[in-house]
Amino acid sequence: MQYETCGRAAARVAVAFAIAALSVGCGVSESSASGARRPADVTAARLSKADSEPGQWFTVGRTLDEQRYSPLAQINTENVGKLGLAWYADLDTNRGQEATPLFIDGVLYTSTAWSKVKAFDAKTGALLWEYDPKVPGEFAGRGCCDVVNRGVAAWNGRIYVATYDGRLVALDARTGTPVWEVLTLDHDKPVTSTGAPRIANGKVIIGNAGAEFGVRGYVSAFDAETGKLLWRFYTVPGDPSKGFENEAMEMAAKTWNGRWWEFGGGGTVWDGIVYDEGLNLVYFGTGNGTPWNRAHRSPGGGDNLFIASIVALDADTGEYVWHYQQVPGETWDYDSTSPLMLADLEIEGRKRRVLMQAAKNGYFYVWDAKTGEVISAKNYVTVTWSTGIDPKTGRPYINPDALYDEPGKVVIVQPGAQGAHSWHPMSFNPLTGLVYTTAVETSMAMTGAPEYRHQPMGANTGLGRPPANVYEERGSKAPRQGQARLIAWDPVNQREVWRTDVNGRIGGGTLTTAGGLVFQGTDAGRFVAYDARTGRELWSFAAQTGVVAAASSFELDGEQHIALLAGYGLVRYGQSNRSRLLVFKLGGTAELPPAPPPPPAPELNPPPRTATAEVVELGRQKFTSHCAMCHDPPAANRSVFPDLRYAPSLHGAEVFASIVLDGALQANGMASFRDRLTAEEVEAIRAYLIERAHQLLAIPPEQRR
Ligand code: CA
Repeated sequence: MQYETCGRAAARVAVAFAIAALSVGCGVSESSASGARRPADVTAARLSKADSEPGQWFTVGRTLDEQRYSPLAQINTENVGKLGLAWYADLDTNRGQEATPLFIDGVLYTSTAWSKVKAFDAKTGALLWEYDPKVPGEFAGRGCCDVVNRGVAAWNGRIYVATYDGRLVALDARTGTPVWEVLTLDHDKPVTSTGAPRIANGKVIIGNAGAEFGVRGYVSAFDAETGKLLWRFYTVPGDPSKGFENEAMEMAAKTWNGRWWEFGGGGTVWDGIVYDEGLNLVYFGTGNGTPWNRAHRSPGGGDNLFIASIVALDADTGEYVWHYQQVPGETWDYDSTSPLMLADLEIEGRKRRVLMQAAKNGYFYVWDAKTGEVISAKNYVTVTWSTGIDPKTGRPYINPDALYDEPGKVVIVQPGAQGAHSWHPMSFNPLTGLVYTTAVETSMAMTGAPEYRHQPMGANTGLGRPPANVYEERGSKAPRQGQARLIAWDPVNQREVWRTDVNGRIGGGTLTTAGGLVFQGTDAGRFVAYDARTGRELWSFAAQTGVVAAASSFELDGEQHIALLAGYGLVRYGQSNRSRLLVFKLGGTAELPPAPPPPPAPELNPPPRTATAEVVELGRQKFTSHCAMCHDPPAANRSVFPDLRYAPSLHGAEVFASIVLDGALQANGMASFRDRLTAEEVEAIRAYLIERAHQLLAIPPEQRR
């Protein structure tokens, strides 16, 4: 009778698990006596010995250490030229894809944009089940960088996903049916979840995003079985008059000034989390403070713990163990949230258990995993905010020329807010001893806003507008948009071993293998295999769309495979987005259908200018706070986020207001901004866009961007 209550999904799953001769019934949740496994049968014992099952990919980073290294060597530097598509699956969303698929006992599990989860038969590509958390479209406007999701976790027969609107959901890995669901954040605040949950000995660890908008960051641990909240650690102090949650918050509060809690503080934990089983520590990185500009966030200065920091907690209790602040008093949007990785390295003759990160601020860090001691830190791109790291304390020397805390001071700082490397996963190959990461040369001109008015549901930087010609005036050659390359970094000697040419503006996550390979996608739509020792390009695949996610690798029926999500979100690239799961193997012969021709160039046909300069300026301010993250021309990815200079709705105040205020396009992810903008402000935004469109009209068509 269990079959009837479980329905068709279970029957379809039964086909996939026939390879393991498993008799499937919905009530079956333990490994059968014959040794066949239940779906997503990831246990503590199996995770501990993950290297004894090199064909599996248990966590987003394969093992607890998250090195994103596959011990499989069937696909290697000699034969990678024969790598071909085994199968592909079109995804039902064309937003950004950032997740790494898990492979467990014949099934691929992945999340996609809008926090959907899908399970595929890894042999045939058949969809076994899918789960749609039905994130309301209006939540798209609560995050900075598209409705992405960076992956799922598997544990004891369940798949865990953190949804964009902040629910942590446990799914039955056999059917995709929710087992429990908890809200991890406050829906009255502009908070979202995009990171992959991590499992720490039966606890599901998850953080959230939102420091750009103004929230108080924290990380939470839930019981994997029941969803019960076990502990929560705030990353920045709250209102001191209400008392502190713990001694760590009391210590942190001494490093803040003003009334920071009214803006939330920031320090959100939106990506890098890793668990060391032996030390029983959970590590995570924290984001920027709110607003970016410290002069407005913490008048008079201060380090502002624990923003832009790495924090280690006791996994059982959530109690503070150590921290390292990468950027004291951070003021340039240098989140410390990039992926973290654990490894055993021999350094100066000593075997060290280390934690590593290629940080957004441009430094590559190696810490002692137990104590947080900075073993070494070295910049891997051009860095101007700091002149080095004090070798005794690990504290960076801040370059006063990079600070913009005096009124009217304008600085050009490297890296820019895009970062030297953000969420894009790096990988470590123990055979070469090298870490492979995207490394981006960027810069940003910054100046403080003379006054600060906090916008409770808008982006809050506290920045003013630097003069448009500041680069020319100063003769600065710093790149104004990202120049991404793949680098191989020796973490023991802290030096670059090889680099590729610039291959896009952002660069993708990486996978490395025992076959001596590194795989990385590009925002220009190629998926490339490089020789891990030399950086020589050996193979590439035209993905028909930008690729920013990192791949995984697995073995099935004696064949090594590579699995990858293709499809970009906020990558600035002018072609249509096509989101797919791509699976490769040697001799694979599947082919993608021909790419449709690129969409025709939109017509630039704005209505006449009628607004005053004051109205246009008001529109500029509101656009910058509420619209620019997705729609800022020319950065907008036109196939996902329209370049509004071309929008036909500019011709009608009512139509424009119906979209922005009434949510006429809510189903597409364009939320109503009625709680953030008045009708007058929306009309000012329209006037500003009309002005921008006319500025563009004045430029010859071939030079327009
Ligand atoms: Ca940030």
